[in-house]
Amino acid sequence: MAAVIVHGGAYAIPDHLVSAKKSGVHTAATSAHKALIHGKTAIDAVEIAIRHLEDDPAFNAGHGGALNVQGEVELDAIIIDGKTLEFGSVAAVENISNPISLARMVMEKTDHVMLVGKGANIFAKEMGVAQVDAKELISDFSKEELARQSVYKHVVNDSFDNQLEHDTVGAVAIDIHGNMAAGTSTGGITAKRVGRVGDSPLVGSGASCDNEIGGTSCTGHGESIAKVTLASRVLTTLQKEGCSPEEACKRSLEYMKTKVSGFGGVIMVAADGTIAKAFSTKRMAWASVDKTGTVQCGIDP
Ligand code: ASP
Repeated sequence: MAAVIVHGGAYAIPDHLVSAKKSGVHTAATSAHKALIHGKTAIDAVEIAIRHLEDDPAFNAGHGGALNVQGEVELDAIIIDGKTLEFGSVAAVENISNPISLARMVMEKTDHVMLVGKGANIFAKEMGVAQVDAKELISDFSKEELARQSVYKHVVNDSFDNQLEHDTVGAVAIDIHGNMAAGTSTGGITAKRVGRVGDSPLVGSGASCDNEIGGTSCTGHGESIAKVTLASRVLTTLQKEGCSPEEACKRSLEYMKTKVSGFGGVIMVAADGTIAKAFSTKRMAWASVDKTGTVQCGIDP
């Protein structure tokens, strides 16, 4: 059994971006699934899927990351091993194309779980990770987004139609040995403060994973997701309420909306390999390959 699901962000994605988003998530999911059926681990598959999306400027991660108020790209990422609960994350890193791979190195090559800013960049250098010119990560689209909104302000109860980009990426996979992994990578939100870190690199908020229950990756308004620790809430809901994986995603998003007026999306693979997703925003780009090998991809509810 091998299965994978990926997302490319949840918000009111405008029509002209639909085909780029769908084709990006489709390629990411099918490449990761191909790796899984050739015996790669769930961790490898999540890294493969997310690197693909980080390299695609249609998404807010790696190349194309959202710009902070000073017009800079600061990236956050996390990867979690569902077998050991080990994780690695990085936050507010600059000049790195694939923060998901750096997060994996934090998990596998340090005694820590998270490195931020300057320290993460020093570590990247030690690991021989190429540092790119900061300008290389800036896309025309992210410049336009910053021009549209020069100071970030969350508008409570207005987020269903929010067209401000929330196109963080994420992936969850189960491999042929039944091991699971989850990961999330983002440039955050446009016009964020310098040094702002959202939900994405926080374990239990932007992603969660445990072989016994399942794995999740989230997208949407980061401060809201962090307040309700959305990723772990989905797993707890599944475990404690005995509902379906999809219902666990929906109930958790509903809780976030009622409790903190936050909107977003979640993808999930349950421990039995069942794939699920839900979003409270207008759209979410997603693609999956389930345990029977069926490929699916969508963006509308
Ligand atoms: N959750 C991300 C953040 O707030 C944004 C997104 O999902 O696109 O940093």
